[in-house]
Amino acid sequence: MSVAENLAIIEERIHKVCAVSGRKRDEITLMGVSKLQPLEAVEQAWEAGLRCFGESRVQEATTKLAGLRESHSGAELHLIGSLQRNKAKAAAAFFDCIQSVDREALIRELAQCAAARETPLSLLLELHTAEDSKSGFASLDEVYRAVELALACPFLRIRGLMTIAPNTRDEGPVRASFRQLAKAQKELNQRFALSAGGSCLSMGMSGDLEIAVEEGSTLLRIGTAIFGERK
Ligand SMILES: *Cc1c(COP(=O)(O)O)cnc(C)c1O
Repeated sequence: MSVAENLAIIEERIHKVCAVSGRKRDEITLMGVSKLQPLEAVEQAWEAGLRCFGESRVQEATTKLAGLRESHSGAELHLIGSLQRNKAKAAAAFFDCIQSVDREALIRELAQCAAARETPLSLLLELHTAEDSKSGFASLDEVYRAVELALACPFLRIRGLMTIAPNTRDEGPVRASFRQLAKAQKELNQRFALSAGGSCLSMGMSGDLEIAVEEGSTLLRIGTAIFGERK
């Protein structure tokens, strides 16, 4: 199957679940997770119309996608893997959005690094919602403190929340994880006057995108279902 064919299948899945759950397709961004995939695969996805890409590692993304960053001005590149402080500067210079913000020290570091950008750096705060995962803020209170910190930084924009559901075929815990994130999002928006851009809910991967859309996802991170198995 080609990347374009896979994308068509994913679009069909998204449209189907939107239709049955009363969601609008245009309120959901489809991201192609291109970690460990070759540049050619990213270019095929671009040709097929995909504009948003996610990478897990700063080093891999900056090497592989530097040319694309230069020549494809409409590309939106997000970091979705955990970020070490010593890579914060490179990440803040390269990506449009860091989705894996999971501690205050990282926000302080990014606040400094982002000052060199032409536009503010978008952030999603990652909430820990799955027993089998280690990443993410442990509680909503920690997220609140992180938002307060980021709101004081002129070069940062909080765009919303991200989570990784448990890695299981069992629907219950996956849905519970997405529900927890959607609830956190509502509470966050009641507490803070985040701009309209504060409503991003990044949840859903190849295996659980239908559940994620049903539970309110506005950004799907799809890797294998678009690009095939990773090398
Ligand atoms: C790899 C990865 C994905 C994509 O997973 P697939 O199952 O290949 O769709 C999504 N989100 C994060 C954070 C990832 O690391």
